[in-house]
Amino acid sequence: MSNSVDVKQETAALLDKLGVARDAWTGGDMVSYSPVSGEAIGQLKSVSAADTNAAIDAAHEAFQAWRLVPAPRRGELVRLLGEELRAAKADLGRLVSIEAGKITSEGLGEVQEMIDICDFAVGLSRQLYGLTIATERPGHRMMETWHPLGVVGIISAFNFPVAVWSWNAALALVAGDSIVWKPSEKTPLTALACQAILDKALARFGSDAPANLSTVLIGDRFIGEAMVDHPKVALVSATGSTRMGREVGPRLAKRFARAILELGGNNAGIVCPSADLDMALRAIAFGAMGTAGQRCTTLRRLFVHDSVYDQLVPRLKKAYESVSVGNPLETSALVGPLVDKAAFDGMQAALAAAKVEGGTVTGGARVVEAGKDTAFYVKPALVEMPKQAGPVLEETFAPILYVMKYSDFDAVLEEHNAVAAGLSSSIFTLNVQEAERFLAADGSDCGIANVNIGTSGAEIGGAFGGEKETGGGRESGSDAWKAYMRRATNTVNYSKALPLAQGVSFDIE
Ligand code: NAD
Repeated sequence: MSNSVDVKQETAALLDKLGVARDAWTGGDMVSYSPVSGEAIGQLKSVSAADTNAAIDAAHEAFQAWRLVPAPRRGELVRLLGEELRAAKADLGRLVSIEAGKITSEGLGEVQEMIDICDFAVGLSRQLYGLTIATERPGHRMMETWHPLGVVGIISAFNFPVAVWSWNAALALVAGDSIVWKPSEKTPLTALACQAILDKALARFGSDAPANLSTVLIGDRFIGEAMVDHPKVALVSATGSTRMGREVGPRLAKRFARAILELGGNNAGIVCPSADLDMALRAIAFGAMGTAGQRCTTLRRLFVHDSVYDQLVPRLKKAYESVSVGNPLETSALVGPLVDKAAFDGMQAALAAAKVEGGTVTGGARVVEAGKDTAFYVKPALVEMPKQAGPVLEETFAPILYVMKYSDFDAVLEEHNAVAAGLSSSIFTLNVQEAERFLAADGSDCGIANVNIGTSGAEIGGAFGGEKETGGGRESGSDAWKAYMRRATNTVNYSKALPLAQGVSFDIE
């Protein structure tokens, strides 16, 4: 591993290029560290609770103007945002790699995802359709209309520091909402860069867009809590751990605010006797080791049929032993660093607990260059487990893949679903009965269920999210936009009588 790139200097140059003012990330109290080298790369100024309240009041004012701008015109702003993102892709992708530790192609891929959701949202801005519904009353018309909702609060996690914002922001903006974003305290610089990019689009868009349509609030979880509790935030879309969701969900419920909760996953794959093992091997390797195991959709549990176990697992172990771990800014590495020491400690604790449950560990050791002990690179770990127990039942946000044997399909489906999270899942099989059963009502209980594709790497066109302790929220494509709008059912009487529904009569005089 080499630190030949001067991370600090490059960050400064990228922020300048992306149009982030120097005083926004120097001299402040909140330090951003690069997982690449472990060094401080920015010192941002945290906002106070009072600043947060003022920003939300201002965003609410912006909403009142923005909701009156026709939706296709709102789409034009998002089209311009997509253009600005295309122009900034290389720089923003690099900044994501520096601040979140992603390998180069994944940093760029994350920005591509932002561009894709902008394209999707532009089309959507002309397709915010409501239904016309048959009415039982003569001379009446019934319909649904979709109206802007209000201020949308976005809370995001470190591991998708920019894409998650864009999934929410692009939809919210075409829906006619204003946005307030509290990014992860681990990745605030990329958030400033996103706002600077949106500011460029806003400058080109012109005066239809009110001031304070989008605000970034730099701060810790307490700023998130202030946002969650503010009565003028109509919807909070919160991405992060299940622990966070457990705090945010009830607070929002208390004031009847809307919530999109995108929380932790404990995703599994099943490899059946008929599986294409070459394909499965590649999908498992990317799903389990990609992004250093720090995706919500990372493959964490693998059930392999005992008839193919000895063909697949030794090959997988070999892949684990040979995978290149190192500086993500250098193109050869496939696995970058863990985000910080806490992530490394969590991984080691889970591996120790797995051993207690009878697990046999391949990999998992720290990779450290002499004198460079402030970054946390680690060999991904494959753990053969006698059964699903202990740490296998929980999400450890690190590259650990627990591998288990199975012999009975019904039993493995039950095991598959026997965890608290319900985000992503996949099956590798060429047997149509197994594939269809996995996708059926009594199959995988996850929000994402795939056949012959790994658990991670979703496209923006589908609704993204999961069940159970993953929170139940849906973002991104399909009809996820409906959460960002207010539905009104309208009935118009164009007759000269007043028939009541269900034949009720109420004749006065
Ligand atoms: P985290 O829960 O520590 O933090 C996420 C965000 O929530 C941060 O911005 C944090 O400041 C904020 N926050 C924490 N407590 C809060 C509170 N009480 N009130 C308001 N805001 C609060 O998560 P992380 O370590 O940044 O990210 C990793 C976790 O996120 C993993 O569990 C991963 O599975 C999950 N994740 C889920 C998805 C998804 O779409 N389901 C996507 C990415 C990450």
